[in-house]
Amino acid sequence: MIFTRWKKGEPREGRVFLVLDPDNAMTAETCPACGKPLGATAPVQLLAIGPMDSEDMELHNSGRWYSAVALVFHAHCLGTETVPPQPSRSRNTVPHQGDGDA
Ligand SMILES: [Zn+2]
Repeated sequence: MIFTRWKKGEPREGRVFLVLDPDNAMTAETCPACGKPLGATAPVQLLAIGPMDSEDMELHNSGRWYSAVALVFHAHCLGTETVPPQPSRSRNTVPHQGDGDA
């Protein structure tokens, strides 16, 4: 069972994880959206489902943070745009350097 910090009113979509390590047991889990294994080639993302017990339910109902049960999806199955991993590209490349975001 996977948990993520969540509270009512916050987006259910958690942070996007990097592509899973091939050794990670989670790669064999299936994505609830497409039914395919999470694998080790696509970024994955947590989706908060809700409280697991009455204690968490109380926190949930009072709008406080708690550890909600979460499911793991492919990030793209949740509609999250992710940059596909491109090992050959330098991490130091700044695509829009000089555009100014001040
Ligand atoms: Zn999927």
